This record gives sequence, C-alpha cells and structure tokens, in this order.
Amino acid sequence: MASRKRTARLLVVDLDDTLWTWFDAWHKSFRAFLDELVRLSGIDEQNLTAAIRTVHQKYGTTEFSWLIDELDILDQAVPSGKTRDEYYDPALHAQNKARKEATVLYPGVKNTLEKLRSRGTTVIGYTESLAFWTHWRIQRTGIDGLLAYLYSSEDHDSPSCVVPEQRRHLPASYYQLRETVHRHVPKGVLKPSPFVLQQIIDDQGVTAAETVYVGDSLMKDIAMAQSVEAIDVLAQYGMRFRDPRYSLLQSVSHWTDQMVQYEQDGRPGVHPTPTLTLAEGLHELDEHVAFKPTQRTNE
Ligand SMILES: [Mg+2]
Repeated sequence: MASRKRTARLLVVDLDDTLWTWFDAWHKSFRAFLDELVRLSGIDEQNLTAAIRTVHQKYGTTEFSWLIDELDILDQAVPSGKTRDEYYDPALHAQNKARKEATVLYPGVKNTLEKLRSRGTTVIGYTESLAFWTHWRIQRTGIDGLLAYLYSSEDHDSPSCVVPEQRRHLPASYYQLRETVHRHVPKGVLKPSPFVLQQIIDDQGVTAAETVYVGDSLMKDIAMAQSVEAIDVLAQYGMRFRDPRYSLLQSVSHWTDQMVQYEQDGRPGVHPTPTLTLAEGLHELDEHVAFKPTQRTNE
C-alpha cells in the first residue's frame, strides 16, 4: 500500500552500515589481522579473542588501533632482536589493506546526498564510532562536505603512553575533514539516548516532526528516533546482525553480554517497529519523503 509522502527539512543519518559497509569492512580487516596474529604467535584463536575483548571493553570500541601494544601475551613468540611491534607488523598491514578494499558506500548514497545538498536540505551524520576512523571513512568514500556536520565524540582510544600522530605515520592534518564540520558530543552518551539527536534538531532550528533519522539498528537508531518523535527510518539494507560472520564481532565486542543478547532477541515487541523501512538503499527515501530546504525562506 502506498503511503502518503511526508515532508521534512532535515536528514540525520547514522553512518556505519547506513552510508557505508562498516561490518563487512570490519570483519574482513579484523579476520585478516587475527589470522596473522594466530600465525605469528602460535596462540589459540579463542585465547586471543578473549584477551582482545578485554582491551575493547576497556576502551569502548572494536576498532582499537593499538591492540598489539596492549596484548602482553604476544611477547612469548617475539624472536630476540625484534620488538613486539616489528614482529607483528604484518598483521597491521593485512588489516589496513582489507579495510581499504572493503570500505565502500552503499549503492545510491552519494547520489542521494548530492541531490539533497542541491535542494538545500542539510544532511548531518551522527555516530558512536571513533572520530579517527570516521574521518578516515568519510575521506575514503569521498563524502567530505556532503555531510554538513558530523556529530560524534572525540577519540578516547589512545593509551596515554602513545601519541597518535607517531603511530599513524601521516600528519594529523591528513585525517582532518576539510568541509564537513565536526561537532563533538559528550563522551559516554550512547544511542538510544535522545540527548544528541535532540541537540542536532535544536541546532538546526527545525522541529522533530520535520526531521528524518535513518539508521540500521532497531535497538539504537530506531528507538532513539522514536523517543524524540522524529520520522524514524530503518536502513534494513545495512542490518548485519544475522550474518553468520557476526559471531566474530560478538566474541571481541566492547558491548556487555546483555547488549549482545538483546540485539539478537527477535521476539515480537522487544524492539521497536520502524515507521519507514528502506530495503535496498538510501535512495528509497525519495519514495517516502519530500525534502524541503532546511532554512526557511519568506514565502
Ligand atoms: Mg550503524
């Protein structure tokens, strides 16, 4: 049944698995990294993933850049005359190569963002992911500037003993966004808390009813959008938690066991029902929503 088209003035999007292939890139890159660690260390994969999960929980991310520095169990296989970093460097190379190859926009995303920009509709990204990797992905996928603003917290993943710029080989300016404006949100405020989304809406001077929010997570994105009464839209094309490969992510997740189980809970009523659903891609928004310029003009 065709539903009436809604009108909106602002689009707020989740990023990972809404705009780009986050899980696929994470899995391919982490798989490559872990395979190399197992090969070089001779340590059982289960023992490694258990140790890695502890580090991920400590830093609140599954994209921690300095895992090798934190995993003392790796030392046992390091030959004399080499440092731990030198010996395990092939693991980082394998991870970076896979990440580069697998991080791509979902079909139709760029075109949709370009159309909205030409119409004067502001598009804003809101993510819980680390700023460093989010900047990298925005640049890698070529959408710097197509998002007017990025809302996320500052990085919190570097151990105090490591200066990020020393380990990331390129000058800090390389990773900065050139057009998209990064607005920092308080650390520890996580979806589905409505705090940040409400702030975004207020900052743009629109109402929640004029705001469309798109994301791939029922328990985070849809629950949050419904709680502020924005127009909630599920990016069903990006949902990956039923993927057989998802168990690797769960085994090293920074989430608690309760959150991991809650996401998987498919019983009716446990998770909210989305108002609108995009089956194939972001371009389907056009079928459901007529976007107007964010700035009101005197008509
Ligand atoms: Mg997501």
